[in-house]
Amino acid sequence: MPISKSRNAPFDKSDERGSDRLLQIEAVYDKVPVGLCYVNRHGLFVSTNDQFSRIFGIATENAVGRLVEDVVPNHAALLRDNIKTALAGEPASDAQIEISGELYMVAAAAVTNDLGEFAGISVAYTNITNLNDVAQKLQQVELRTSYALESAGQWIWDLNIATMRVWRSPQYRALLGLDPAGVENESVAWDIVHPDDKGRAIEALDDVVSGRKPRFEATYRVSRPDGGLTWILSRGKVVEYGPDGSPLRLLATSVDITAQKRIEEELSTTVRQRMELEQKLLEANRKLRNQSERDHLTNLPNRRKFNHLLKRAFLRAIENAEQLAVLMVDIDHFKAYNDFYGHLAGDKCLVQVGRALNKVVKQSGGSVARFGGEEFAALISGRALEPAAEIAAAMLDAVSAMGLEHGASPTGRISVSIGMAMVDPAGSAVHLGPEELLNLADGALYESKRHGRARLTIAGTFNN
Ligand code: GH3
Ligand code: MG
Ligand code: MG
Repeated sequence: MPISKSRNAPFDKSDERGSDRLLQIEAVYDKVPVGLCYVNRHGLFVSTNDQFSRIFGIATENAVGRLVEDVVPNHAALLRDNIKTALAGEPASDAQIEISGELYMVAAAAVTNDLGEFAGISVAYTNITNLNDVAQKLQQVELRTSYALESAGQWIWDLNIATMRVWRSPQYRALLGLDPAGVENESVAWDIVHPDDKGRAIEALDDVVSGRKPRFEATYRVSRPDGGLTWILSRGKVVEYGPDGSPLRLLATSVDITAQKRIEEELSTTVRQRMELEQKLLEANRKLRNQSERDHLTNLPNRRKFNHLLKRAFLRAIENAEQLAVLMVDIDHFKAYNDFYGHLAGDKCLVQVGRALNKVVKQSGGSVARFGGEEFAALISGRALEPAAEIAAAMLDAVSAMGLEHGASPTGRISVSIGMAMVDPAGSAVHLGPEELLNLADGALYESKRHGRARLTIAGTFNN
């Protein structure tokens, strides 16, 4: 079978090796699954291969020496155009034609003779029916992916780890409010990320690149052209590694999570406000309770609180088999003090006496309350009779030591009288309740008054 000679393939039949190679090429020429032919500058077929014969159903001997219009009337014009283009020294462009229901790509190239003159064109017919199907399917898949991404508010990005340049799918422009018609070139990674969040995104990538984490995940903000911020969640993985195992490409998707972020923020604000409110309520409750349990004048626990403390101390004393002393304290001749110095001075005196009593009792781990009027009550836990009596004596001393003048008292000084009662689980008074204990202390106080005031009387040790 004759084949055209091109400048690049000068074969000489007289050369043994050249002749062999020519045979080989002729064999290949016939066997390739591409229709090939050579048409001279006048439009006459000079050679065709077997595949050409099969495509057009024309044997080589019926094609060679005949005009393109006679052999391939349907696309003779295309071949004529190709000849014209080649003659003009311009590169021919590929065309697609349909032959018996199959799609072929027709590619023509100029062939020159040994002198470098244009001799004709070689034409290749490649069946691209399947290729076309694949291309169409690919296009469909791309379209589907594109719609899916768009409606899911997502875009894909592909990061070249070596160059740190990123390609983004076009949805990203619409989702970030950029001009959708704008041209998207590869840009530097993280260039769209808010400066405050860049560090975090880079750290997340480092985690993946260094192999600490299998997947990339980062949330960050992106500035929109309208001045607003969009919250983005990006997830991806390394999809390509170099021969040394180093990661080359990260493929990821990004999604707009601004709405979720807003809900999260609103929720956390609500939770915080609620917690603050609860805290305020607790504080208000605490203050209220404190107020309801305190005496405003002396700031000592009031009678209500004292009764509560007494009940608790009493139960604890029984449970732990400990002693408990209850003391009733009353300022001597206080009515006269008020009459002599005035009610305001009386108030001031009450505060000072309360403070002095409190200091002594607090030091011994007990508590003092204003029981009412010019009366105070005290509790001393875990002390035997003697030490408790010593504390009571120290209370008497503390009041006298203040040296508060009392012009209407026989002694000329402010003093108090004390009555004390004890619970001693080991002793006989165990059957008493807190109420009876108070009454006993009150009785003892009465005895102190009766015996000249400014003294301590212990219940059960009354002197008549
Ligand atoms: P005694 O030595 O027997 O206890 O005599 P007393 O005058 O202290 O006793 P009395 O019960 O007769 O009088 C108590 C006085 O205490 C009457 C009242 O004016 C005064 N008093 C009670 N509460 C207050 C108060 O909050 N402020 C002032 N300034 N005086 C009060
Ligand atoms: Mg009194
Ligand atoms: Mg009094």
